[in-house]
Amino acid sequence: MNENLERILIDEKTLKARIAEMGAQISRDYAGEELVVIGLLKGAAYFLTELTQHITVPVRIDFIKASSYGSGTTTSGKVDIDYDTSRNIAGKNVLLVDDVIDTGLTLKAVGELFRNRNPKSLKVAAMLDKKERRLVKVLPDYAGFEIPDEFVVGFGLDYDEEYRNLPYIGIMKRSVYEK
Ligand code: 5GP
Repeated sequence: MNENLERILIDEKTLKARIAEMGAQISRDYAGEELVVIGLLKGAAYFLTELTQHITVPVRIDFIKASSYGSGTTTSGKVDIDYDTSRNIAGKNVLLVDDVIDTGLTLKAVGELFRNRNPKSLKVAAMLDKKERRLVKVLPDYAGFEIPDEFVVGFGLDYDEEYRNLPYIGIMKRSVYEK
């Protein structure tokens, strides 16, 4: 385990098994349909890669990069889209894929943006869900794990761009990010 971690929250085997289950569920739900899977960079990259390997309906993959901004520790709920998909999603089944839903503000704003583009359907898959931190009502259609209010890294999630490549989800030592 990395020395800057308090403990491993979800080990690699458990994480991958759950993501495989989510892929199977999504495949059942979209049987006979096609799907556009859109990942939120950078955090969702690992989850999207793992998840889509378990989806058996035809899939097209795209990414967007959204950044929420505010002052200090408070988010305003406004997001900037730094990198957008060029794909026309009107009339398509769209699955937004995110790493972790925290306050829900980012996903709410991104969801509204995509809904305005008139997809046939729009659903959300999140690897992790910090339910108790929610400020706005966002319910993922597919959620991997409900997690406590702790700062986690690994499997795409970073602290200062580090730790994304850990194959598991770990809880950071507070001493690392509170210094
Ligand atoms: P929200 O708009 O839901 O508050 O923000 C969600 C985003 O905040 C996630 O996509 C992620 O980038 C970041 N985030 C929230 N909680 C954590 C966490 O525990 N660890 C890391 N690395 N990022 C987090």
